Amino acid sequence: MPHQAIHWIFSYIWLRFVVENNTKTLLEAANTSLMANYRQPQMVMVSGRGSWLKNSEGTSYLDFSGGIAVLSLGHAHPKLARAIADQAATLIHTSNLFYTDKAVRLAAELCKRSGFSKVYFTNSGAESNEALIKIARKHAYLKGDKSRTQIIATHQGFHGRTMGAVSVTGQPKYHEGFGPMLPDVVFVPYNDIESMRAAVDERTAGVLLEPVQAEGGIINGNPEYFKAVRELTQTKGALLLLDEVQTGIGRTGTFLAKEWLGIMPDACALAKGIGGGFPLGAMLVTEALANSLPTGSHGSTYGGNPLACAAGLAVLQTMDEENILHNVNTQSEKLRAGLQAILNDNIQAAGVAACTELRGTGLLLGLKVNPELDPMSAIAACREEGLLLSTAGGDVLRFSPPLTVQSFEVDLAIDKLRKALPRTAKKPAST
Ligand SMILES: *Cc1c(COP(=O)(O)O)cnc(C)c1O
Repeated sequence: MPHQAIHWIFSYIWLRFVVENNTKTLLEAANTSLMANYRQPQMVMVSGRGSWLKNSEGTSYLDFSGGIAVLSLGHAHPKLARAIADQAATLIHTSNLFYTDKAVRLAAELCKRSGFSKVYFTNSGAESNEALIKIARKHAYLKGDKSRTQIIATHQGFHGRTMGAVSVTGQPKYHEGFGPMLPDVVFVPYNDIESMRAAVDERTAGVLLEPVQAEGGIINGNPEYFKAVRELTQTKGALLLLDEVQTGIGRTGTFLAKEWLGIMPDACALAKGIGGGFPLGAMLVTEALANSLPTGSHGSTYGGNPLACAAGLAVLQTMDEENILHNVNTQSEKLRAGLQAILNDNIQAAGVAACTELRGTGLLLGLKVNPELDPMSAIAACREEGLLLSTAGGDVLRFSPPLTVQSFEVDLAIDKLRKALPRTAKKPAST
């Protein structure tokens, strides 16, 4: 019936008009109202499911950025969504004036799985690292060792953006214009035990390390190095502090990376994967530090609120029920093999090999881009193919998909990457 056909055509045109106008309005609002500290592409995400993200135009993307290694259960996992909705309708917040059932249960679960004795909850990775710095100094102070204030961290390390966390971040670009930094911070090269031996002394409160330098470019920690640092800090009376914000909660194939490093640190920082996307972080400490943040010495209004902790509990429970650690290891092997094949095939872009090195562990893998090429152009080409990635260390393509990623999605990602990589452009001449 021609009349009906005309109706459908007009409906379609109207719908396109609304959709496009909606996106245009949102992008205009983004450009006028949001600060320019990030670098988003000109699109607006509106929904997600599993490993997929959808924008306001209805285009779907395979999300291997994983919310920057946050999505333990993928987007919109029904169990996580239900736990958050139920808790929101029951009790969102009390402040830490009171215990809540969810915080108490999550703390007990974390202790059980990690071997640590006590938990302090935060809302982010930076805050968890702030807590590490503060407890290291307070611990020494309470023992009467008041000159033990130094924190040793590593070049290329990353611990967050608050003043304390950024002060122990070993990348000058994050310090620029924000000085002066926190005093008594020393940086040494990563995975280099001799430099560490030379740095640790009777003034060292704590040594802060990432099991894998993630933001620094996906550099794996060497277990022998970590064992040696563990021994050294023990001998010198300093604490060993692990930043497991990115590596923790199954990301590198074990619940915490300290398991494959083969060490027990004095304390560790968590965030990212622990809430599956809901803002939540934690500091875990051993029995020796159980009383090193005495009543009133540190705190947070939101930290460990029941809504966040309900999300954390749902993440841990679902990881068990769906055997997600097993999936991490299976998909890691598959993704690694696919990336290795891309390296072996020596895919060319602008007349040079597009990628030069495969790095990382578990579902935290990196492909180093040829220094002659512009990594952001590779990210853009992947996006055109429908694959979302982030960079690490400026020149590494980071693969940190949801821990629930499926086999066919890994295949698809490799396919898309193969199509996109040849379109990587040369670096602009000036940089
Ligand atoms: C992301 C990250 C942080 C900072 O976490 P925020 O939640 O952004 O504050 C700290 N340390 C490591 C290792 C990280 O990957």
